[in-house]
Amino acid sequence: MDSERTILHVDMDAFFASVEQILDPTLKGKPVIVGGDGTGRSVVSAASYEARRYGIHSAMPTAQARRLCPHGIFVRGTHGAYSDFSHRTYEILERFSPLIERTSLDDFYLDLTGCGRLHGTPIEIAEKIKRTVFEETQLPVSVGVGTSKLVAKVASGLAKPSGILQIFPGSEAGFFRPLPVKKLPGVGKSAAETLHRFNLKTLGDVAAMTPEVLEKTFGSHGPSLWRRAQGIDSSPVTPDHGPRKSISRDTTFSEDTLDAEELRAVLYSLTEYAARQLRSEGMVARTVTVKVRYSDFKTVTAARKVSSPTDMDHCLYEVAVERLDYLLLRRMRVRLIGVSLSNLAPRDTRQGELFDAPTREKQRRLCSGLDRLRNRFGPGIISAGPAVRLQKQRL
Ligand SMILES: [Mg+2]
Repeated sequence: MDSERTILHVDMDAFFASVEQILDPTLKGKPVIVGGDGTGRSVVSAASYEARRYGIHSAMPTAQARRLCPHGIFVRGTHGAYSDFSHRTYEILERFSPLIERTSLDDFYLDLTGCGRLHGTPIEIAEKIKRTVFEETQLPVSVGVGTSKLVAKVASGLAKPSGILQIFPGSEAGFFRPLPVKKLPGVGKSAAETLHRFNLKTLGDVAAMTPEVLEKTFGSHGPSLWRRAQGIDSSPVTPDHGPRKSISRDTTFSEDTLDAEELRAVLYSLTEYAARQLRSEGMVARTVTVKVRYSDFKTVTAARKVSSPTDMDHCLYEVAVERLDYLLLRRMRVRLIGVSLSNLAPRDTRQGELFDAPTREKQRRLCSGLDRLRNRFGPGIISAGPAVRLQKQRL
């Protein structure tokens, strides 16, 4: 049945950097690096292809990027513009299929199954999309075509920059076989290192194992790794309307840390970010879950309900930090920390508490004032509470 699906993965090339080059054409053809000012703990969120020639890539500390490319142009980013360009791209894609899933600001899956040949063959559609997006937004995109989201995503990754690649039905496993394991979406640097330790270097090496052996070695992810290594993926393209179940943010530290103050500050930033998303969708959350991955890769979560559903940073953070402190009792270095807000409901159904209503209203006005500033100038512009410490470090 999968061989009958036609999925496109449309991915903007060096998205934030490309937008900066469109907004300021004098940056065209130059090494543009988006993310902080090249000092402190900030990391690169996007690098133009000109910058990538110097070995710069996203998630690299900006300080390192500056060493690699001292004449690079470092910009903080224009976040309102990114969602605007993303939205315009979405509107173009809607002309080609009603079934679109946006997985981030700059990548989209389209299900063309059942769209007939109105717009041509999948490759012709990919070409039309690429051309139209460029004509209407100037953004360079790459398109992958395949029988599943996984295959289409691997194809677009290989097509970059500014290319189109189709992996034909039936040829998925053969196409995947020689690829290094890190080309498989979801296999990050550390997972790749683990696989290498077991002498699994290519996706073909993984596919040659049995799902049972992989399960023994890698736990419950083993069998799905085995399937995915052969290009098998039946996940549907899910349009992102419909009620959302949770809002999560997490981050991995460049170096594992035990510094509770730093961990709290990062948790505050993550909570602030998630709460902003919550407010922009007009929702309140009842449950706060904190996730910690220790340096031994053990991952644990701790959840607690807030006394009454809320969308305010400090109320959510109060619960989050209490859960974090609990998880830190293990006294082991932390490599990843995350927060998730769940049990969501529309704001209006929230039960008001009579006595602190005026304070609440004041806090809400403060929060939404901060949101407006952040939407306009980017999330780094202003920060309250413990995250101020992080801001200072970045300066
Ligand atoms: Mg991209």
